[in-house]
Amino acid sequence: MTTSNQPSPPAGPPLANDLDLLASCVHCGFCLEVCPTYKLTGDENNSPRGRLRLWREEAEGRLPQDTWTDFYTSECVGCLACESACPANVPYGTIFEKVRHEHVAAKRSNPGFALRLASKLAAHQSLFNLAMLPARLLRKMGLLPHRFLFAGNPAAAQSTISYAKQLMERHRPTGPRVAFLTGCLMESLFREINFATVRVLIENNVQVIIPPEQGCCGAFQEHTGLGGIEELQARNRRAFGLLDVDAVVSNSSGCGLALGKALSGDVPVRDVLSFLGEIGPKSRPRRDEKARVYVDLPCHLIHGQKLPGIPTNVLNATGYNWELAPMARDCCGSGGVYNIQKPENSREILARKSAFLNDAVGDPVILATSNHVCMMQWNSARASGLVKKPFTVRHVIQLLDPEG
Ligand code: SF4
Ligand code: SF4
Repeated sequence: MTTSNQPSPPAGPPLANDLDLLASCVHCGFCLEVCPTYKLTGDENNSPRGRLRLWREEAEGRLPQDTWTDFYTSECVGCLACESACPANVPYGTIFEKVRHEHVAAKRSNPGFALRLASKLAAHQSLFNLAMLPARLLRKMGLLPHRFLFAGNPAAAQSTISYAKQLMERHRPTGPRVAFLTGCLMESLFREINFATVRVLIENNVQVIIPPEQGCCGAFQEHTGLGGIEELQARNRRAFGLLDVDAVVSNSSGCGLALGKALSGDVPVRDVLSFLGEIGPKSRPRRDEKARVYVDLPCHLIHGQKLPGIPTNVLNATGYNWELAPMARDCCGSGGVYNIQKPENSREILARKSAFLNDAVGDPVILATSNHVCMMQWNSARASGLVKKPFTVRHVIQLLDPEG
């Protein structure tokens, strides 16, 4: 028997009917030097070109389904840096997503009980909010029992929907009208970032509506290879698809990418910082000269959504001295749930990227990015001792916050 979370296993090898996708690779190797797992191991099979070759040979029946292919598939972070580097426009992300789902469906890989449970809960926002209440309260009290939990002060009970309604009634903005994707993990655990997003948008005269029918964007299911994406996408199409808005905005690059696929162009899905960049956001007063912000660029922003980065006028408006982090365009190793499924690789990728913070100039030092999963990963660099020098992790929207 199958459930909505467990699609039927495929009849043949993955991508047997998609050989044209696999054949689009011309083996040039331009993608190798941007691939974090190739850089880590120097192993051709652990590169985009190597994985594509394994999948193609299996799909063509020249290679048996074996544990080596399963292993090298599981090694991929899903950062999509190879897509940006590829001159032949190989749709690596689409191919990888198909293979990952088919491997889970055929029991060639197993996301494990905890991720399956989280996936089920994420599909039911109110249950997920309830399940995360203890973690939300611990964060609120400043107790951070897990290395991924960065400091913050989320509202325990009030939702972002209720908060946005209050603020809209008080300020009555008259500018562009946006619908806001609040997200499952963002709303249940990191909702202070959602509150800050609402404040910044309304301060910039943007009308914010939050459809209550919305749900998880499906990124979690993409990362784990679990089923159920179609139902989540259909729900979000119902929630967002017919709204009279200028855009749907997201404050998490991974969620924005996934929602964009669900809405498939019916309503433009915009990264909130990119949206604010076009408006020209209100500036915060100049901050302490000694403070320094290092900006990191999430993979799903630059390789997934194909944006050039976080707009300069947005970063200038924070009032901080800022600069791009060294290796800002490289993956941090979070990869959705990669840091749970492949902790050693993930830590090694992060170690290389975060090493600069040990000698970073600034007091305080702030690492700012625009994806909560990357924020969790960066916090683990501090909490697990990879970086000895104190630093705080912030979402860029929090640096624009009138209450920040
Ligand atoms: S998605 Fe990232 S980790 Fe995976 S093959 Fe491409 S560059 Fe390498
Ligand atoms: S850059 Fe593109 S075409 Fe070249 S080897 Fe990599 S995936 Fe294949």
